[in-house]
Order: sequence, then structure tokens, then C-alpha cells
Amino acid sequence: MEAPALPASLAVVPSGPGSGRIDQRAALLYAAWAGIAALAQGAGTVPLPAGAALVLGLGCALTLGLFLGLARLPVEQPSAALLATAQSLMGIVWSTLFAWYTAGSPAGAVLSVGMYLSASALAVPAASLPALGILTCGAALLSAAAPLLHQGLLLQSGASTAWAPLLPLLLPSLVLSVLLAAIYLAARTLTSAREQLQARNAELQAGIEQITRRAERDQLTNSYNRHSILELVAREKSRADRGGGDLCVCLLDIDHFKNMNDQYGHQTGDRILAAFARRVRGALRTMDTVNTAGLPMGLPATLVEDHSEPRTAGRSAFGRVGGEEFIVLLPETSLRGALRCAERIRQAVVRRPFDGLHHVTVSIGIAEYLPGETVSSLIGRADEALYAAKHAGRNQVHCATPDGGRSAIVMRTFMKSTGP
Ligand code: GH3
Ligand code: MG
Ligand code: MG
Repeated sequence: MEAPALPASLAVVPSGPGSGRIDQRAALLYAAWAGIAALAQGAGTVPLPAGAALVLGLGCALTLGLFLGLARLPVEQPSAALLATAQSLMGIVWSTLFAWYTAGSPAGAVLSVGMYLSASALAVPAASLPALGILTCGAALLSAAAPLLHQGLLLQSGASTAWAPLLPLLLPSLVLSVLLAAIYLAARTLTSAREQLQARNAELQAGIEQITRRAERDQLTNSYNRHSILELVAREKSRADRGGGDLCVCLLDIDHFKNMNDQYGHQTGDRILAAFARRVRGALRTMDTVNTAGLPMGLPATLVEDHSEPRTAGRSAFGRVGGEEFIVLLPETSLRGALRCAERIRQAVVRRPFDGLHHVTVSIGIAEYLPGETVSSLIGRADEALYAAKHAGRNQVHCATPDGGRSAIVMRTFMKSTGP
């Protein structure tokens, strides 16, 4: 059975936003900073040479276009972490260029601090912590390098005769470094909280799966319980109705089990029931291994009777419907195949005494699903076949014919091995 999905409030925290959201945020930030820079230039606060404005404008537009185009390419997309890192890096590059063109202008320095911060913040939700560390350190260093280099060039060209005082020159960069450090620390805290939440979610998911598994199991025989096996029959019936191929149901009932309880006690009876289930499972496993090689794939993963094994398509399911009665569900199996399977089960039960001394036999009734019939009709017909098997002397397999009814139960398997 499938484990129920986690409620939304407990769902695993996504590792980061998709590329579309990163691009949208980058576009917004570029637009915002372009607007602010244009306003500042218009007001004469941040003088930006016309050529520089063109380079910056075109460069940012090209960067955005590149990322948007990449997101639409029909190829495998890079991870959100890589995209966020790349977007952030490009933002830092353009911030540095802006800082360079506006070096010497205090208002320009303020704007470039804001640009560096925005560009670094782009990486926060998705980029890895080491990448964020490198980006923030890079931004801090570049923001200090731009005014220093500018001063150096001024001295070299003779436009300036002495170094400007360092503190005012580097103050914006120092402020930026503190802010970037705060961003990095906040991201680190968030990351560790996210990792804890993910680990907790994984635990919860495992817990839910375990509970679901327990809820669908019959404890004594470790097979599906009545509710689950009937649900599986119904599910397979629906699948067969949608053109999913053959479907057979076998009803198994241990012969004279009451005598066994009376003779050896209830505890021994319980042990025999559990051992009986193991033998049936063993027989089914052998059949499944043989069958799956030639079966069409795509059967529901639920049709695996033992959850300790990988869920593989095309397997039978086995459940206890009550007392000493069981159902074997055989999807993608014709009546002939079901007969072979049931006979194999019967022989596996009689072959050796249980606990070395209890001879057990089983009677089996088979019904093949008729398109459109109800689950209860299908199981009812299997029950009629079982009744016939009992009536004919037990320890045998009978099939129901399509029209059902006791008189219609006609087929009886060859019985090479008659058991004890
Ligand atoms: P038949 O061949 O006609 O099926 O005979 P039977 O004795 O197997 O059938 P009947 O329905 O008369 O008895 C079924 C017995 O199964 C009755 C009950 O004592 C036993 N039984 C049902 N559930 C359990 C269980 O969980 N543990 C044990 N030990 N016995 C059980
Ligand atoms: Mg019974
Ligand atoms: Mg019985």
C-alpha cells in the first residue's frame, strides 16, 4: 500500500527556488537599480559617463537575456544552486563596474554598496554555503579594490598628487563587509534549520511508512489483512476494467483446522497459521520470479506481498481474510496460470509436515475476473469453487466457471500428489 503523503505543513523544505524565480528576482533587482542610478544621474548626484551607462545597461540586459534564454532551452537545466550562484556572480561583476565608473562619488559608493548587497542576496535561498561565502568575500574585496585602484590610477596619471585618506575611501566597503557577514551568518542559521527540518521530515516519512505497513498487515501471518487485500482486489479489478488484462483470485482455506486446534492447542494452531503463510509466500515468490520476466511492466507497486523486498511490478498479493482463510490475488494471470499457481501452493503445503509432525492440507477455489462483475461476485464465485473443493474431499483446487453458482463449479485439478 502506498504511504499517505505528508501534510503540506510537514513537507520537506525545498532546497531552493527554481530557476524561473531566481531570474524574476534578478530582473526586478536590475530594473530597480537601473532606475535608481538613472534618477541619481538625472539629479546630478551620481555622475555616470554616457558610455558607462550604455555599457552597464546593455551588459545587465544581456546577462538577464542569457539566463532567461538558458531557462527556455530544451536541455537539462543546471541546478537552482548553480543558477543562483551564477546570477549572483554576474550581479557582483556589474556592481563592481558601477563602483569603478562612479569611484570618487560618495553617493555612487552608497549605490554600489546596495548593488553588492542585492547581488549577494540573490544567492542566499539556493546557493550552497561555501559558494555564498566565496561570493560575499569576493564582493567585499572588490568593493574595496575599486576605489583603491581608482586612486592609484589618479596618482599615476597625475590627476591627483596625494592619496586621499583611506578611511573615507574604504568606509563604504567596511559597511558592506559587516552587512555581508550578517547575511552570511543568517544564511548559515537558515541552512542548518533547513537541514534539521529535512532530517525530521525523513524520520516522519519513515515513521508513517512503518505505521502504514503495520496497519495493512495481519500480525500473526505477516500477510495483508482483510481490509488491505480486499482493497487490492478492488484496485486490480478497476485496472482490469481499464483494459489491464487478466485477473484471478484464489480463496484458500486450511482443511480441518478446528481439529488441529482441538488436538494440539491454539498456540500450535497459531504457529501453523504463520508457517502456512510463509509457505504460500515462498510458492508465490517462486511463481513471481518466473512470471515477471515475461510480464508487461507497469503494474501498481502495491502488489508486493512482502515489504521487506523491493517493490516490483507484476507480483501477486497474499492476504488473510479471516481465521484460516486467505486470498491470493493474481494480476496479469490467466485461469490456466492461476491453476498452476494454486496447485503449486497446495503442493508446497502438503509436501512436508509442519513442525515436522503436523500434516496440513489446503483447499483452494479460483475465480477468473469477468469484465464488469463486482468484487463480491468475483470472491463469491471463488468461494463457491472453494466449497466445491471441500465437498469433493478437500486438499484440492477447483475453478469457478463464468456463470457462477454451485452447479457450475466443474474443474478439478489433476492431483498427482494427494498429500498425507
Ligand atoms: P474445513 O476443512 O471445513 O475448513 O474445516 P475447519 O475446521 O478448518 O473449518 P472451521 O470453519 O470449522 O474451523 C476453522 C477454525 O479455525 C476454527 C478456529 O478454531 C480456527 N481459527 C480461526 N482463527 C484462528 C486463529 O487466529 N488461530 C488459531 N489457532 N485458530 C484459529
Ligand atoms: Mg474456514
Ligand atoms: Mg478450514
